[in-house]
Amino acid sequence: LDGVVALDGPSGTGKSTVARELARRTGAGYLDTGAMYRAMTLAVLRAGVPPTDADQVIRIIRAATLRIVTDPDNPKVSLDDVDVAAEIRGAEVTSAVSAVSAVPEVRELLVREQREIIARVSAAVGGIVVEGRDIGTVVAPEARLKVYLTASADTRAQRRSTQDTAAGRSADLAATRADVQRRDQLDSTRASSPLRAAEDALVLDTTELDVAGVLAELTELIES
Ligand code: C5P
Repeated sequence: LDGVVALDGPSGTGKSTVARELARRTGAGYLDTGAMYRAMTLAVLRAGVPPTDADQVIRIIRAATLRIVTDPDNPKVSLDDVDVAAEIRGAEVTSAVSAVSAVPEVRELLVREQREIIARVSAAVGGIVVEGRDIGTVVAPEARLKVYLTASADTRAQRRSTQDTAAGRSADLAATRADVQRRDQLDSTRASSPLRAAEDALVLDTTELDVAGVLAELTELIES
């Protein structure tokens, strides 16, 4: 794969699974930008700082060392040299991440790092699949392909719940549904880079599609 493929959309649309598998099949790198916001949120929580206290949040985030491995066969995320892949998916981080990622300085810092990673990985392996909320609009507006994934609220809650169960986390469907809706509401109404489809993005509704179906659509788009 040459260039950047940007996959955006709300939670539970299957972005991560699909982005990673697409990168694997095309020999591209894989960047999960949500993992970066989540890891920074974990740093904030560990420091005992309220996620809504922007000044304190900025201080913590500037001091934290975040490392991301973009190999789709073995993606990694570490905070201050300790692997945090499991911890960043937990309920505490999930409920605080939207507040932390609404702070403009947090976004500035992470977008800069994301662009550096994209440039480095593109130079090394030719292409990268990047997933998030603002990839097509802000991080990589030059992307060769922008796809905005959607799915019905029920489907998204169901997918999240299934993932949580598989990872051994509690997964009450009603609670998951409420959480997914709350987070998408916060993400799409924040002042700084709100969740939205880029004007030149293709919108793909995945409600009736499985992973193979979404991958088939994306592969066709890349080849066309
Ligand atoms: O994709 P994931 O669910 O891991 O993202 C977690 C949170 O990180 C989102 O709810 C959003 O608040 C934030 N995020 C963001 N911009 C991105 C990726 C994630 O604001 N590009």
